[in-house]
Amino acid sequence: MTGASGRVALVTGGARGIGAGIASRLAADGWRVVVADRDPAGAAPIGTAPIGTAPAGGRFVLCDVGDEAAVARLVADVDGTEQRLDALICNAGFMIRKPVRDLSLAEWSSVLATNLTSIFLLVRGFETMLRTARGAVVTIASTRAHMSEPDTESYSASKGGVVALTHALAVSLGPEVRVNCISPGWIFTKGPQPTPEEHAFHPAGRVGTVEDIAGLAAFLIGPESHFITGAEFVVDGGVTRKMIYPE
Ligand code: NDP
Repeated sequence: MTGASGRVALVTGGARGIGAGIASRLAADGWRVVVADRDPAGAAPIGTAPIGTAPAGGRFVLCDVGDEAAVARLVADVDGTEQRLDALICNAGFMIRKPVRDLSLAEWSSVLATNLTSIFLLVRGFETMLRTARGAVVTIASTRAHMSEPDTESYSASKGGVVALTHALAVSLGPEVRVNCISPGWIFTKGPQPTPEEHAFHPAGRVGTVEDIAGLAAFLIGPESHFITGAEFVVDGGVTRKMIYPE
């Protein structure tokens, strides 16, 4: 518990993965957590409450954060129910991996809508509440904002946009609201366990965990980070600092 009692945090994409880890961490720290996700299957990320009921320390709202009307409903819901917002964690995101020649405009737009435009919609909707609370925003970008594999254009473009949007918002919303970005590297959330070789590839000696991201997010919305805004924090076990040449 870090003295967050009475303060409210909204975590998008918090039904599973990194978002669920952040929601759990913040609830354990004493935050009241609202999780907004389009996946109703993960409606109890903070505890074991069944869908539609409020888990200890928080509640779930079904919302597609890339949809303007849905975000407007979410803002009205939080305004009416919690009546305040102290922290906004913009975590929802997904990737389409496809050769650019096969990528439709609808697919490109759907990635941009969830990964980037949602942050604009959420911050615009919650600006007054965040200013009143002297709150903080954390955006989740990716190391793919800075480096790429083939066939990831829409995702990389969206995450580069998140980094830029973060510093633009920090300048516009300060001094009342701080805005910072976390760019994760490989954070293990699903799929086969990383191999020993994959762990060893990281200068830190291992693949990341959701707790690695959740701990930093908790710091960035807490009082000890008060002099930090507009910054990007790369959390990747050192991979983007590792020089690689062909054997
Ligand atoms: P997951 O796919 O495990 O979880 C993301 C959650 O967000 C899912 O529940 C998903 O629902 C939901 N979501 C997706 N789109 C929307 C939307 N439009 N509205 C509401 N909810 C939505 O992702 P991760 O936990 O792996 O990633 C979380 C964030 O971290 C993302 O922004 C991702 O880009 C970023 N990231 C992750 C890395 C990793 O290694 N895991 C590395 C770098 C960045 P649904 O199941 O319906 O899609």
